[in-house]
Amino acid sequence: MTQKLLLSLAKKYDTPLYVYDSGKISAQYKRITTAFSSVASLRINYAVKALSNINILKVFKQLNSGLDTVSIQEVQLGLKAGFDPNDIIFTPNGVSLEEIEQAKDLGVQINIDNISILEQFGQKHPKTPVCIRINPHIMAGGNSKISVGHIDSKFGISIHQLPHIHRVVENTGMLINGIHMHTGSDIYDVDAFLRATEILFNAAETFKDLAYIDFGSGFKVPYKEGDIETDIEELGKKLSKRFNEFCKDFGRDLTLMFEPGKFLVSEAGKFLVNVNVVKQTTSTVFAGVDTGMNHLIRPMFYDAYHHIENISNPKGKERFYSVVGYICETDTLGANRRINEISEGDILSFSNAGAYCFSMASNYNSRYRPAEVLIHKGKDYLIRKRETIDDILRNQEQLTL
Ligand SMILES: *Cc1c(COP(=O)(O)O)cnc(C)c1O
Repeated sequence: MTQKLLLSLAKKYDTPLYVYDSGKISAQYKRITTAFSSVASLRINYAVKALSNINILKVFKQLNSGLDTVSIQEVQLGLKAGFDPNDIIFTPNGVSLEEIEQAKDLGVQINIDNISILEQFGQKHPKTPVCIRINPHIMAGGNSKISVGHIDSKFGISIHQLPHIHRVVENTGMLINGIHMHTGSDIYDVDAFLRATEILFNAAETFKDLAYIDFGSGFKVPYKEGDIETDIEELGKKLSKRFNEFCKDFGRDLTLMFEPGKFLVSEAGKFLVNVNVVKQTTSTVFAGVDTGMNHLIRPMFYDAYHHIENISNPKGKERFYSVVGYICETDTLGANRRINEISEGDILSFSNAGAYCFSMASNYNSRYRPAEVLIHKGKDYLIRKRETIDDILRNQEQLTL
């Protein structure tokens, strides 16, 4: 997406505006499928929570991807986007037995991540195949909020509880068709990832009805120039080889699964905002924009870095700015950034705005959430209208007091 195109979209649809490029999404999808092309059966399930607009799900449907879902609502969205229930895996954490039964009734693949629910579900529905989420206890992840594989993590069933899992499986007669791990986001160390997969292979050997092994996700993408990213090609080469050996020992071909979110959509998104005010204080030049942490929470929540460019003045002299939101508390979107000279009314573009940006947006300060546009095959489509005051009031009962 060129700066010129982005600028014209900001004019056409107004700001704040999220823009997604389906071409980049399919290029990333093809990178994974190519990296693992020596595996007989590969399945990529896009993690819906990264970016859940129904049109994005339809893009993945066209790519022949499956979906990874973490709530019954994401399952419903996937079905509405036209996915076959067989192509949806439900991987929630800490949800009720009722919600898991709802997913079962919709016919989607279920993944269970605690022994209590495994036991209850197995007793009631021994014939429904179930996948088990294992926690291999390998430290991974960009920061403590997104690292989910460590010993104190709430995610998965500890690998040390494997004997207990087997007792539950035997006692209930339930069928385990998949084994799964998801160790966290932002994995850049291929060897750490491979160590976790060895633990999963050891566990997998002990389940005779297995149809697939799901290695989760956590692929890191670059946010800054020169940033390290998961070397998907190297991982593909090493893990495919190991997976094929495992299948040979196991006696038949299994499906290798992944469920990436960030890797598939992060770089496909840009977030366009308008500069409301340039304000010089004693120490800092602030650029105040028509958005805030209500629309882009990652900088304040995870200390995430999103690259910011001034697309209205790309050749202007570079100066230092702190780009801040309009929310009535500190919401810094980028501190002390070198950006081409900013004037009020300029359009700034945030990179890596595809994953965990719109999907984490809220109406805090009673602001409208941004509109969303999809660039698909050379055309732009509005895929989410701008909100109005009716959206803010929609479910509020108005009492006469
Ligand atoms: C969030 C999540 C993913 C996607 O993680 P990314 O870092 O976006 O690739 C995959 N699987 C599960 C179970 C998740 O919760």
